[in-house]
Amino acid sequence: MIRVIAGEQEHVAHNYHPLPVVISRGEGAWVTDVEGKRYLDLLSAYSALNFGHGHPALLAAAQEQLNRLTLTSRAYHNDRLGPFAAALAELCGKEVVLPMNTGAEAVETGIKVARAWGYRVKGIAADAATIVVAHGNFHGRTTTIVGFSDDPDAHGDFGPFTPGFVPVPFGDAAAIEAAITPETAAVLIEPIQGEAGIVIPPEGYLRAVREICTRHNVLFIADEIQSGLGRVGETFACDREGVVPDVYLLGKALGGGILPVSAVVADRDVLGVIRPGEHGSTFGGNPLAAAVGLRVVEMLKTGEFQNRAKLLGDHLASRLEGLVGHGVTGVRVAGLWAGVDIDPAQGTGREIAERLIARGVLVKDTHGQTIRIAPPLVIRSTELDWAVEQLRVVLAG
Ligand SMILES: *Cc1c(COP(=O)(O)O)cnc(C)c1O
Repeated sequence: MIRVIAGEQEHVAHNYHPLPVVISRGEGAWVTDVEGKRYLDLLSAYSALNFGHGHPALLAAAQEQLNRLTLTSRAYHNDRLGPFAAALAELCGKEVVLPMNTGAEAVETGIKVARAWGYRVKGIAADAATIVVAHGNFHGRTTTIVGFSDDPDAHGDFGPFTPGFVPVPFGDAAAIEAAITPETAAVLIEPIQGEAGIVIPPEGYLRAVREICTRHNVLFIADEIQSGLGRVGETFACDREGVVPDVYLLGKALGGGILPVSAVVADRDVLGVIRPGEHGSTFGGNPLAAAVGLRVVEMLKTGEFQNRAKLLGDHLASRLEGLVGHGVTGVRVAGLWAGVDIDPAQGTGREIAERLIARGVLVKDTHGQTIRIAPPLVIRSTELDWAVEQLRVVLAG
């Protein structure tokens, strides 16, 4: 039984069904609950904690900035946004950054940019632009975004929805091409679908999407909010196929696990379509976010975290593959990111996650039978071994 914390049960809206653990401290790959029990964090807040809890370099950047200046709004310039944008643009090999806060806002921004580009550059007739999206997508929780989700829980009673989105099967480049018309402004996909259960498209898919988008004069928008910034053993999941999208959507780890920081990154011929007054956010590009985001980019520039994700990911993959046939029906791994399908005879993904909590390991179930593993990239291989051993024991029990 967990100690119930006064207030949560009665006063927090029930929009989540958290696993039964109450965390009060975190350090690196480990968290501690209110009773003092320690857990290895194999979720990393859905990759927002790629650098682990309380990374000293990120805390230092935040603390230094907290003492100087936290918020100006974009009504004025601040001295942190420029350096952050320059560094992030360079990391992406692009020219321009539009800073926002949450991932969903970055996606919304990408949609607005694509539509404005469609009308002002491509010459699509007013209000006719479409965007091709993928079945099984997860791009966030705003009303426009849930309107093109095919998860019934996500859109349920929240319509009517924004028109203009055309869903096609994920991983099928021919289906994308077949859906493109002269009115298509963009193709919006996750290069690897995270919420869907770490669904990795067939090799060559991203290259084909790139080629199709170029040939039809359609923007390729890659939602790298969860897959990007080191998780898959490269800076971006698109790098796995050597592909550069027209637009990167970034978030989660960009805030260093400290605060929400998101961004849309593209060249000037795309992002330049947005004019003053057409889009923005009170907190977007604030000096605290920019200081932390700049430090995140500096940490990624060394390649150290990408290399860790690659090496540790290979190690994790070999360990997890050993469980297939022993309570596990399938495993998908990209860098330090894994979807593990649990044999229904063992119980649901949620039940496995609860049994792992009892053994000091935090994972998260998704879509019933899958558990998702996304440890902080600072985790050690011996810790990964220990965690997989706990899973083996849980499945053997
Ligand atoms: C988490 C996520 C989002 C939404 O980010 P929020 O910060 O929760 O709004 C969008 N796209 C992908 C791929 C994500 O994983």
